[in-house]
Amino acid sequence: MNIQQNLKHILDSIPKTVTLVAVSKTKPNSDIMEAYNTGQRDFGENKIQDMVDKADALPKDIRWHMIGHVQRNKVKYMAEFVHLIHGVDSLKLLKEINKQAKKYARTIDCLLQIKIAEEDSKFGMTDSEAKNILQSDMFSAFENVRVVGVMGMATFTDDENQVKTEFKRLKTIFEDLKSICTKNCNLETISMGMSGDYPIAIESGSNMIRVGSSIFGTRNY
Ligand SMILES: *Cc1c(COP(=O)(O)O)cnc(C)c1O
Repeated sequence: MNIQQNLKHILDSIPKTVTLVAVSKTKPNSDIMEAYNTGQRDFGENKIQDMVDKADALPKDIRWHMIGHVQRNKVKYMAEFVHLIHGVDSLKLLKEINKQAKKYARTIDCLLQIKIAEEDSKFGMTDSEAKNILQSDMFSAFENVRVVGVMGMATFTDDENQVKTEFKRLKTIFEDLKSICTKNCNLETISMGMSGDYPIAIESGSNMIRVGSSIFGTRNY
Protein backbone atom coordinates (compact mmCIF):
# COMPACT_ATOMS: atom_id res chain seq x y z
CA MET A 1 0.00 0.00 0.00
CA ASN A 2 1.65 3.17 -1.19
CA ILE A 3 -0.21 6.46 -1.53
CA GLN A 4 1.91 7.76 -4.39
CA GLN A 5 1.51 4.58 -6.43
CA ASN A 6 -2.22 4.43 -5.77
CA LEU A 7 -2.63 8.01 -6.96
CA LYS A 8 -0.58 7.44 -10.08
CA HIS A 9 -2.54 4.30 -10.88
CA ILE A 10 -5.86 6.15 -10.67
CA LEU A 11 -4.66 9.22 -12.57
CA ASP A 12 -3.28 7.00 -15.34
CA SER A 13 -6.64 5.26 -15.70
CA ILE A 14 -8.94 8.29 -15.93
CA PRO A 15 -9.32 10.94 -18.66
CA LYS A 16 -7.45 14.22 -18.14
CA THR A 17 -10.79 16.03 -18.17
CA VAL A 18 -11.83 14.33 -14.92
CA THR A 19 -10.79 16.04 -11.67
CA LEU A 20 -9.69 13.69 -8.92
CA VAL A 21 -10.58 14.86 -5.42
CA ALA A 22 -8.47 12.87 -2.96
CA VAL A 23 -10.71 12.21 0.03
CA SER A 24 -8.43 12.49 3.06
CA LYS A 25 -11.04 12.34 5.84
CA THR A 26 -9.74 10.70 9.04
CA LYS A 27 -6.22 10.58 7.52
CA PRO A 28 -3.22 12.37 9.02
CA ASN A 29 -1.47 15.37 7.48
CA SER A 30 1.52 13.21 6.64
CA ASP A 31 -0.65 11.14 4.27
CA ILE A 32 -1.95 14.30 2.63
CA MET A 33 1.61 15.57 2.17
CA GLU A 34 2.57 12.32 0.49
CA ALA A 35 -0.16 12.90 -2.08
CA TYR A 36 0.67 16.60 -2.28
CA ASN A 37 4.27 15.81 -3.12
CA THR A 38 3.20 13.95 -6.25
CA GLY A 39 1.32 17.05 -7.39
CA GLN A 40 -2.17 16.35 -6.02
CA ARG A 41 -3.88 19.62 -5.01
CA ASP A 42 -7.60 18.78 -4.64
CA PHE A 43 -8.50 17.23 -1.30
CA GLY A 44 -11.90 16.40 0.20
CA GLU A 45 -13.01 16.34 3.82
CA ASN A 46 -16.45 15.63 5.27
CA LYS A 47 -16.13 17.43 8.61
CA ILE A 48 -15.70 21.19 8.64
CA GLN A 49 -13.57 21.28 11.80
CA ASP A 50 -11.14 18.68 10.43
CA MET A 51 -10.88 20.58 7.16
CA VAL A 52 -10.17 23.84 9.01
CA ASP A 53 -7.41 22.21 11.10
CA LYS A 54 -5.80 20.64 8.05
CA ALA A 55 -6.05 23.82 5.98
CA ASP A 56 -4.33 25.71 8.79
CA ALA A 57 -1.45 23.28 8.95
CA LEU A 58 -0.91 22.44 5.28
CA PRO A 59 0.26 24.31 2.13
CA LYS A 60 -1.97 27.16 1.05
CA ASP A 61 -2.26 26.09 -2.57
CA ILE A 62 -4.38 23.06 -1.63
CA ARG A 63 -7.94 23.29 -2.95
CA TRP A 64 -10.23 22.11 -0.14
CA HIS A 65 -13.51 20.42 -1.06
CA MET A 66 -16.26 20.06 1.54
CA ILE A 67 -17.93 16.80 0.54
CA GLY A 68 -19.96 16.08 3.68
CA HIS A 69 -23.29 17.25 5.00
CA VAL A 70 -23.03 20.94 5.93
CA GLN A 71 -24.63 22.41 9.03
CA ARG A 72 -25.52 26.04 8.53
CA ASN A 73 -23.95 27.20 11.80
CA LYS A 74 -20.55 25.91 10.70
CA VAL A 75 -20.33 27.56 7.29
CA LYS A 76 -18.55 30.54 8.85
CA TYR A 77 -15.50 28.45 9.74
CA MET A 78 -14.71 27.51 6.15
CA ALA A 79 -15.98 30.54 4.24
CA GLU A 80 -12.57 32.13 3.98
CA PHE A 81 -10.86 29.31 2.11
CA VAL A 82 -13.15 26.50 0.91
CA HIS A 83 -12.76 25.82 -2.82
CA LEU A 84 -15.99 23.95 -3.53
CA ILE A 85 -18.92 22.84 -1.37
CA HIS A 86 -20.36 19.61 -2.80
CA GLY A 87 -23.22 18.89 -0.41
CA VAL A 88 -25.58 21.84 -0.79
CA ASP A 89 -29.10 20.59 -0.23
CA SER A 90 -31.26 23.65 0.50
CA LEU A 91 -31.86 27.28 -0.34
CA LYS A 92 -31.42 28.13 3.34
CA LEU A 93 -27.91 26.73 3.24
CA LEU A 94 -27.10 28.69 0.06
CA LYS A 95 -28.32 31.81 1.81
CA GLU A 96 -25.92 31.23 4.71
CA ILE A 97 -23.01 30.45 2.38
CA ASN A 98 -23.77 33.68 0.50
CA LYS A 99 -23.80 35.64 3.74
CA GLN A 100 -20.50 34.21 5.01
CA ALA A 101 -18.77 34.52 1.63
CA LYS A 102 -19.66 38.21 1.55
CA LYS A 103 -17.60 38.79 4.71
CA TYR A 104 -14.50 37.72 2.83
CA ALA A 105 -15.52 39.39 -0.44
CA ARG A 106 -15.53 35.98 -2.10
CA THR A 107 -17.83 34.07 -4.35
CA ILE A 108 -18.10 30.48 -3.14
CA ASP A 109 -18.72 27.76 -5.71
CA CYS A 110 -21.27 25.10 -4.77
CA LEU A 111 -22.73 21.90 -6.12
CA LEU A 112 -26.35 20.95 -5.53
CA GLN A 113 -26.53 17.50 -3.99
CA ILE A 114 -29.19 15.44 -5.72
CA LYS A 115 -30.62 12.30 -4.21
CA ILE A 116 -30.20 9.58 -6.84
CA ALA A 117 -29.81 6.50 -4.62
CA GLU A 118 -32.70 4.30 -3.65
CA GLU A 119 -31.60 4.08 -0.02
CA ASP A 120 -33.23 6.54 2.36
CA SER A 121 -30.06 7.40 4.22
CA LYS A 122 -28.52 9.59 1.54
CA PHE A 123 -28.83 13.36 1.76
CA GLY A 124 -29.84 15.46 -1.16
CA MET A 125 -32.76 17.04 -2.94
CA THR A 126 -34.99 16.07 -5.82
CA ASP A 127 -34.46 17.44 -9.31
CA SER A 128 -37.53 19.63 -9.01
CA GLU A 129 -36.32 21.10 -5.73
CA ALA A 130 -33.05 21.96 -7.44
CA LYS A 131 -34.92 23.56 -10.33
CA ASN A 132 -37.02 25.63 -7.96
CA ILE A 133 -33.92 26.93 -6.23
CA LEU A 134 -32.18 27.97 -9.45
CA GLN A 135 -35.34 29.74 -10.63
CA SER A 136 -36.13 31.48 -7.35
CA ASP A 137 -35.87 35.24 -6.88
CA MET A 138 -33.99 34.74 -3.64
CA PHE A 139 -31.27 32.73 -5.32
CA SER A 140 -31.00 35.19 -8.21
CA ALA A 141 -30.35 38.01 -5.75
CA PHE A 142 -27.34 36.31 -4.13
CA GLU A 143 -24.05 37.98 -4.96
CA ASN A 144 -21.48 35.79 -3.28
CA VAL A 145 -22.44 32.27 -4.21
CA ARG A 146 -22.47 30.40 -7.49
CA VAL A 147 -23.84 26.98 -8.43
CA VAL A 148 -21.35 25.23 -10.69
CA GLY A 149 -22.81 21.74 -10.88
CA VAL A 150 -24.32 18.76 -9.13
CA MET A 151 -23.17 16.01 -6.80
CA GLY A 152 -24.65 12.60 -6.14
CA MET A 153 -24.01 9.23 -4.59
CA ALA A 154 -25.24 5.95 -6.02
CA THR A 155 -26.71 3.14 -3.98
CA PHE A 156 -24.09 0.99 -2.27
CA THR A 157 -24.66 -2.24 -4.18
CA ASP A 158 -22.89 -4.82 -6.34
CA ASP A 159 -25.53 -4.33 -9.02
CA GLU A 160 -23.58 -2.32 -11.59
CA ASN A 161 -26.64 -1.73 -13.72
CA GLN A 162 -28.42 -0.03 -10.89
CA VAL A 163 -25.39 2.15 -10.16
CA LYS A 164 -25.11 3.06 -13.83
CA THR A 165 -28.82 3.91 -14.06
CA GLU A 166 -28.53 6.20 -11.04
CA PHE A 167 -25.45 7.97 -12.38
CA LYS A 168 -27.04 8.44 -15.80
CA ARG A 169 -30.02 10.00 -14.11
CA LEU A 170 -27.76 12.53 -12.43
CA LYS A 171 -26.19 13.35 -15.79
CA THR A 172 -29.68 13.97 -17.25
CA ILE A 173 -30.66 16.15 -14.29
CA PHE A 174 -27.43 18.09 -14.76
CA GLU A 175 -28.29 18.79 -18.42
CA ASP A 176 -31.82 19.88 -17.45
CA LEU A 177 -30.57 22.25 -14.77
CA LYS A 178 -27.92 23.62 -17.11
CA SER A 179 -30.60 24.52 -19.63
CA ILE A 180 -32.68 26.51 -17.13
CA CYS A 181 -29.99 28.29 -15.17
CA THR A 182 -29.57 31.97 -15.91
CA LYS A 183 -28.12 33.81 -12.96
CA ASN A 184 -25.46 32.87 -10.38
CA CYS A 185 -24.88 29.55 -12.03
CA ASN A 186 -22.52 28.07 -14.52
CA LEU A 187 -23.09 24.35 -14.56
CA GLU A 188 -20.00 22.46 -15.59
CA THR A 189 -19.21 19.97 -12.82
CA ILE A 190 -20.76 16.56 -12.18
CA SER A 191 -19.28 15.19 -8.96
CA MET A 192 -20.03 11.48 -8.87
CA GLY A 193 -17.98 8.35 -8.31
CA MET A 194 -16.06 7.00 -5.30
CA SER A 195 -13.50 4.20 -4.83
CA GLY A 196 -16.01 1.47 -5.58
CA ASP A 197 -17.75 2.98 -8.56
CA TYR A 198 -15.71 5.75 -10.19
CA PRO A 199 -15.12 3.89 -13.50
CA ILE A 200 -18.89 3.51 -13.95
CA ALA A 201 -19.40 7.14 -12.94
CA ILE A 202 -16.95 8.37 -15.56
CA GLU A 203 -18.62 6.18 -18.21
CA SER A 204 -21.90 7.82 -17.21
CA GLY A 205 -20.64 11.39 -17.57
CA SER A 206 -18.83 12.28 -14.35
CA ASN A 207 -16.04 14.86 -14.56
CA MET A 208 -15.17 14.96 -10.86
CA ILE A 209 -14.58 11.88 -8.72
CA ARG A 210 -14.13 11.72 -4.95
CA VAL A 211 -11.80 8.88 -4.07
CA GLY A 212 -10.61 8.03 -0.56
CA SER A 213 -9.84 4.44 0.37
CA SER A 214 -8.36 3.51 -3.02
CA ILE A 215 -5.72 6.18 -2.41
CA PHE A 216 -5.18 6.26 1.35
CA GLY A 217 -6.31 2.77 2.37
CA THR A 218 -9.24 1.84 4.55
CA ARG A 219 -10.28 4.33 7.20
CA ASN A 220 -10.09 3.63 10.91
CA TYR A 221 -12.76 5.57 12.75
C1 LIG B 1 -15.91 9.20 2.16
C2 LIG B 1 -16.53 9.79 0.95
C3 LIG B 1 -16.02 9.52 -0.33
C4 LIG B 1 -14.85 8.59 -0.59
O1 LIG B 1 -15.20 7.27 -0.31
P1 LIG B 1 -14.23 6.04 -0.71
O2 LIG B 1 -15.17 4.91 -0.86
O3 LIG B 1 -13.27 5.89 0.41
O4 LIG B 1 -13.56 6.41 -1.99
C5 LIG B 1 -16.63 10.14 -1.40
N1 LIG B 1 -17.68 10.95 -1.25
C6 LIG B 1 -18.21 11.23 -0.04
C7 LIG B 1 -19.37 12.15 0.05
C8 LIG B 1 -17.66 10.65 1.10
O5 LIG B 1 -18.19 10.93 2.29
